[in-house]
Amino acid sequence: MRVLIIGAGTGGLCLAHGLKKAGVDVALFERDRTPRSMLIGYRVGISPDGSKALHSCLPPEVFAEFVRTTARPPRRIVMRTEKYKELLVGDIDTDRDDTRSEKSVSRIAMRTALLGGLDDVVRFDKTFTHFTQNDDGTVTAFFDDGTSETGDVLVGADGAQSRVRRQYLPDAKVVDTGITSIAGKLPLTDENAKLLPPLADGGITLLFGPHGEFVIIHVMRFDGTGVEDDYIMWGYAASHEKFPDMTGMSPAELKQVVLNLTPKFHPNLRKLFALAVPETVFPIRVRTSERLRPWQPSNVTLIGDSVHLMTPGRGIGANTALRDAELLCRKLVEARAGEDAVRAIGEYEREMIEYGFEAVEASREMMDGTSLVHKPVIGPVVAAFSRTFLRVTNAVPVLKRRMLAEDAAERDHVSSDHEVVHAR
Ligand SMILES: Cc1cc2nc3c(=O)[nH]c(=O)nc-3n(C[C@H](O)[C@H](O)[C@H](O)COP(=O)(O)OP(=O)(O)OC[C@H]3O[C@@H](n4cnc5c(N)ncnc54)[C@H](O)[C@@H]3O)c2cc1C
Repeated sequence: MRVLIIGAGTGGLCLAHGLKKAGVDVALFERDRTPRSMLIGYRVGISPDGSKALHSCLPPEVFAEFVRTTARPPRRIVMRTEKYKELLVGDIDTDRDDTRSEKSVSRIAMRTALLGGLDDVVRFDKTFTHFTQNDDGTVTAFFDDGTSETGDVLVGADGAQSRVRRQYLPDAKVVDTGITSIAGKLPLTDENAKLLPPLADGGITLLFGPHGEFVIIHVMRFDGTGVEDDYIMWGYAASHEKFPDMTGMSPAELKQVVLNLTPKFHPNLRKLFALAVPETVFPIRVRTSERLRPWQPSNVTLIGDSVHLMTPGRGIGANTALRDAELLCRKLVEARAGEDAVRAIGEYEREMIEYGFEAVEASREMMDGTSLVHKPVIGPVVAAFSRTFLRVTNAVPVLKRRMLAEDAAERDHVSSDHEVVHAR
């Protein structure tokens, strides 16, 4: 069986490793010109699910290198108001076992680690344009340099703007969530660390504003591994209406937009916004996909954002792409040839559509510009109610335990086995 994968992102690389490890002939095509031409190195949280999938697909030395490149994992989740007042604090008591623990990684570092051992599999500077399904049961992928490759299975792992999806499932919809986000990074120096909200170092911090807007803060410490310099990453998100027209704005202007939108936020938080290194500031118009009805399986399939694009709201996009990669790999390896490959793809798709769109819906709840909290008059009332709810939950250990456990379970289907999120 020869498997062609389009896209050397989170899912595509994991799948390529899994297939190669099992002895399947696999070729991966990536449009980026070089391994490090990936535009933005934002932070990705790898859940126990994600770790498990990587451990299962990667050869041991590549998995070890991936673990080495991760930053110090978050130990707690902290929710505050935009003025740094505490709403809720809960510990993330993750497994110590690397094969199923929570991890913090930089996207570029993860890609670099996952490219290890795939020199004979990955081809850069290959932009996929379209495919044909041939009468002999094979599939041919075409590239914009005029070349083509033929295999038995084609996997679209080509992310949010997937061309494989557009051709294969033309009715699949990617829709706007009504949320815009601007994110940036600054070096983690002693001075900058003093500007962080309490407990932010070593945790994931969410700050909720009075009009549905929120800020996420990650502190990335690499503990001298040389992978990257330590940094602080922030992301500000609010409904589109709150933002001016940002077409053509420079990163410095985008930073100013955040500052203009947050005059009453904690002064230290505004300093963190202002100190972001301009080249790291980027806007995201948050989009998501709509639930798909099952389709007739064939020798073409999709994994990750290409089929179930979701908001960054719950930090599960990459983890779901990894889960897809592990499941599809397992099914294809079990099947290996001819007709069986299509049956294996059908089994994969049946499961993937279920958990994939559950994840889409869960992450949309966190970032939905149409929800009441973003409305002009009722919004502040809803926001005030949510804050009260969080404060009460924080004060009642049994409520807090339940809320954090539910949250962890939604983020991770294996968490109930081995990850305990408990109240402080
Ligand atoms: C700011 C931000 C924070 C996030 N944080 C988290 C988090 O904490 N946890 C989490 O789980 N997820 C997170 N995500 C989501 C996560 O990054 C994605 O869901 C995940 O990377 C999707 O993996 P993928 O393999 O489907 O696609 P990608 O990783 O996007 O890879 C797609 C690849 O396909 C290539 N490609 C595209 N078109 C073509 C073509 N025509 N020909 C050849 N190659 C092509 C692209 O260049 C790219 O390399 C975050 C996303 C953002 C934006």
